Amino acid sequence: MRDSFFANTELIGLIGHPIKHSYSPFIQNFAFEQLNLDYIYLPFDVPAENLKAAVNGVLALGLKGLNVTLPHKEKIIKFLDELSEEASIIGAVNTIVNDHGKLMGYNTDAFGILDTLLPFKEKISGTKVSVIGAGGSARAVIYTLLRHFKPEEINIINRTHQRADTLANDFALKMRFDSFHTFELFPPDNMEALSNSRLIVNATTMGMYPDIEDTITDIEDSFNEEQIVFDLIYNPTKTNFLKMAEMQGAKVVGGLKMLISQAAKSFELWTGAEMPVAIISDSLQQYIGKQNIYSDKN
Ligand code: NAP
Repeated sequence: MRDSFFANTELIGLIGHPIKHSYSPFIQNFAFEQLNLDYIYLPFDVPAENLKAAVNGVLALGLKGLNVTLPHKEKIIKFLDELSEEASIIGAVNTIVNDHGKLMGYNTDAFGILDTLLPFKEKISGTKVSVIGAGGSARAVIYTLLRHFKPEEINIINRTHQRADTLANDFALKMRFDSFHTFELFPPDNMEALSNSRLIVNATTMGMYPDIEDTITDIEDSFNEEQIVFDLIYNPTKTNFLKMAEMQGAKVVGGLKMLISQAAKSFELWTGAEMPVAIISDSLQQYIGKQNIYSDKN
């Protein structure tokens, strides 16, 4: 890794709370180094009460941009000058570009979700799908499904039912789709919806490091061999939720590909350069192994 920085080095920050689980500093700094770009990417743990001050800091210190992670993706919008079309429809931002003092918000999660699900397009298009979660990334999932996969029906399943309803109403209006059904997270109410879904997406934080034992209980019977089950969580690389689905014969997909694809899109927005994703992917796998965090073997 690079060990010296000079007056012209551009700084990109990552803000979230907590932030220690993130692989983004590794990905972005490795990519800058591969392309000899004079950038550095640093994580900042920013609790909610400091969000506005952090955004002011970007302007005051002249950072080139930010990645934004949970829990700030929705709340940060009010501090930005302009949003891309997808960020505005999704209502969440994960990437900010400081364009000479003007803060532009983007959502590259949607690109990462599309890249991950594209190999299954034929299988998914026109079918019933279920999204578990109603936070910022569930919004990006629903946007991507509606824009690119034309589902017949979308079930939104969330711990807080009201939040699922709000999300459904919001997208029904913004994207003119009226086949939403909402459920609380706990079985048995959602079992039929899940088992009739060709695609099931976990967009909650349940099962994410360090709470890796957490999962939705008693839904084993909802999975089957016809399904694709996608968990956005990338640490661990295979959650208990995915292990459960795999045991029932479903095709399972973890969040690592999405992580790299969304990072590549953000990288391009800041630098104008294309991230060498194959090299990054190999090195990230090695890095995760070395960290001895949670790999497929666990
Ligand atoms: P968020 O906006 O904070 O939403 C969190 C969601 O999880 C909400 O639906 C929340 O339900 C639910 N939840 C939290 N704790 C729960 C619990 N104990 N039991 C049941 N439900 C619970 O977070 P987010 O930004 O959407 O992120 C969600 C996940 O996606 C995270 O694990 C994140 O790491 C992952 N992600 C991955 C990538 C990638 O590149 N692979 C990118 C973005 C996000 P309530 O509404 O009831 O609170």
